[in-house]
Amino acid sequence: MRQRVFSGARPTGRQHIGNYIGAIQNYVKLQEKYDCVYCIVDIHALTTLESTSELQQNIFEMTLDWLAAGIDPKKSIVFVQSHVPEVMELFTLLGMLTPLGWLLRVPTFKEKARMQPQNVNYGLVGYPVLMAADIMLYKSDAVPVGEDQLPHLEMTREIVRRFNFIFGDTFPEPQAKLTNYPLVRGLDGGQKMGKSYNNHIELAATPEETLERVKTAMTDPARQRRNDPGHPEVCNVFSLHHFFNEESTKEIDAQCRVAGIGCVDCKKLLAEGINNALHDFRERRAALEKDPEHIYAILDDGARRAGVIAKQTLAGVKLKMGLTRHA
Ligand code: SF4
Repeated sequence: MRQRVFSGARPTGRQHIGNYIGAIQNYVKLQEKYDCVYCIVDIHALTTLESTSELQQNIFEMTLDWLAAGIDPKKSIVFVQSHVPEVMELFTLLGMLTPLGWLLRVPTFKEKARMQPQNVNYGLVGYPVLMAADIMLYKSDAVPVGEDQLPHLEMTREIVRRFNFIFGDTFPEPQAKLTNYPLVRGLDGGQKMGKSYNNHIELAATPEETLERVKTAMTDPARQRRNDPGHPEVCNVFSLHHFFNEESTKEIDAQCRVAGIGCVDCKKLLAEGINNALHDFRERRAALEKDPEHIYAILDDGARRAGVIAKQTLAGVKLKMGLTRHA
């Protein structure tokens, strides 16, 4: 029996190279060793979205990127959270045994409440319970997380322990599959790459768009003129070369330090590296995009397969909680 891995991601639309390096590549690798359940968590998105007008398009675009990157719907279950409504039922039931104090202490709740004081909704405080429901519904053994996400997973583990203690052994305690996600800084060189900071490069961008985005990247702030020697260790363009031009980094490092290469040419090299690395991905994506019905069929099939597991789990939970008479 292979272990089951669950991971959920918000429908943020077209993915960027930070998503690819930080998560999607790992998703692709994991499916070789584990039964993977990859979920686009649209209900979670509702806790912070101001408008839902782009939600469906974002789900579609994100699915395209996942599939083009190599997530294989024959190996993994790929689906949309709300398409398996059992998660809402389990969310409600788990809410009955999760102390409010646990939820109010979660740092991300406090932060989100600070960021959107006009919309501190019930879903925001219940977010970790919904996350636990996502993971538990599929009896997941492991969840890929970065170190910063460990506290979130710990909350799920606490809810699992509490459920198992009160109602008997039902759920595996999901283990953190700690992944050292490399930090991909955005083009501004400060923040982590993210759409909300507009410092990203979309995977699906054209080569020309990629070059235009790379041209806006911050470099070594001390390098004011072409003839100034540079300091690659403080330059974000250089850190991106590590991902896309690994074999040239030594040379770029040396040339930068003696002003042998200028930032304009260095950025062109980076754009070329990104475009070469993503060439096949972009071709696959363009082909997939031509047939939306095929994409929706994959999501429907994923929801159907996830639904089979979900129904079984929920039936067991309701029985243990005294909500049904018979097994
Ligand atoms: Fe950065 Fe390249 Fe310019 Fe050096 S030459 S400062 S590594 S962009």
